[in-house]
Amino acid sequence: RGQYRLTDDNIDAWVKWRLAQHRVADGEPFEIQLADGRWLLVVEHKTPSGFTVSNRIDITARRNLEQAQRRSAAFLHAAERVAQIGSFEWCVETTEVRWSEQLYQILGMAPCSDPLPTEEIARRFMPSEERPRFLEDWQHFMSGSGTLEAEYPLVIGEGLLRTSHWIVEWVTGFENGLAVAIGTVHDITDRKLADAEMQRAQQRLAHVGRISTMGEMATGLSHEVNQPLTAIATYAQALIRLMDSPQGADREELREGLTQITTQALRAGDVIRRLRSFVKDHTVHLEPTPLNTLIRELLVLAGPDLRLNDIRLSLSLSTVDVIVNVDAVQIQQVLLNLVRNAIDATLAMEGGERDVEIRTVLVGDQAEVSVIDHASGIDASVAAKLFTQFFTTKQAGTGLGLAISRSIIRAHHGHLDHRATPGGGASFYFTLPVVRRAT
Ligand code: ADP
Repeated sequence: RGQYRLTDDNIDAWVKWRLAQHRVADGEPFEIQLADGRWLLVVEHKTPSGFTVSNRIDITARRNLEQAQRRSAAFLHAAERVAQIGSFEWCVETTEVRWSEQLYQILGMAPCSDPLPTEEIARRFMPSEERPRFLEDWQHFMSGSGTLEAEYPLVIGEGLLRTSHWIVEWVTGFENGLAVAIGTVHDITDRKLADAEMQRAQQRLAHVGRISTMGEMATGLSHEVNQPLTAIATYAQALIRLMDSPQGADREELREGLTQITTQALRAGDVIRRLRSFVKDHTVHLEPTPLNTLIRELLVLAGPDLRLNDIRLSLSLSTVDVIVNVDAVQIQQVLLNLVRNAIDATLAMEGGERDVEIRTVLVGDQAEVSVIDHASGIDASVAAKLFTQFFTTKQAGTGLGLAISRSIIRAHHGHLDHRATPGGGASFYFTLPVVRRAT
């Protein structure tokens, strides 16, 4: 065909030539495309009397349909491969099961093998401790009309552990009106690994951030520890003087002095203990925590800095305390960053209100915590860059505080942002989903 431009006018001559050349047998149908794109089904047949009977049927529509079907199958296959999603359909009534090529691929099976029944999938591909859950989920799906959506580990080939995400639904009116279970199996191993890596990176960053925040608050904290140490020294000296005095110290005076020394030592110890547990590198650990209590406990760490800089902190906590599912150290880290920024902004201002407020309110199923200052507020030019890593307007700033804080709050399914304080200043706030009210 290469040399010929086949048209309605020359097709007869061409077919005759092919027959003469014995390229096709007498009466054998073949398909041929004309130069204008149409497809013909051609049958040439010589009758015993020597006549040639020609049949030409335009099969363009059928060819187009077939091509469209092939394309859509190839497209589906390519899309499943790219997305690492396999699919299956299963008609319970006819017991007919079909698996997509990608499903075979995910399970490491040859594409020509038969699809497996559910029990066999469990037996071959799931760790034994996971089988009951998988089979139970299936049973539940089969007996209802709902959707099955769950993650299952798969052991492929020589013990390669993958994670798969399954969604199975009932679809009716699909084929002869019968109910068919349509399912997808998504290999999410790579995503899971990336998530875990992301979480580790976020954790490392948060740790670095805490150390750097503590560095900024070191003056206030060392002051806080020094005070009880000074008090201890003073009491001890007074006791020595008493003992050296001619009348000596009586038991009551000794007891009073030593009690004071104990109290002060415990106070210093408490600050150091909290500081240590705050900067310690720890794995993120979510725990149901009463929000207002968490904020009150933060004051041990935030208080010294505020007092040293002569800034008053007020708490307006919602009357009902709520339970949030959080890593307490990380949430305190966010709060410390916000309080620290509020202190910096207040100090940068000449005069004005030296007042910072931490407020909690309930908005629907979210708790909102805000740190409110009455300083210069956020410039429009600064607002756009606030949460960018390393953006700082401070001489000794790291520009990490807000970026880290936002990623911590995101990891807790909340969001962190700011608004202007009425009357001037900035209010940074974040939300956390409420688990329940504290009793
Ligand atoms: P850093 O405190 O090291 O600069 P942050 O990410 O915590 O890093 O803050 C970034 C910038 O956001 C600060 O340099 C400051 O310009 C601005 N900012 C943050 N909090 C406030 C606030 N309460 N008032 C005014 N500006 C603020």
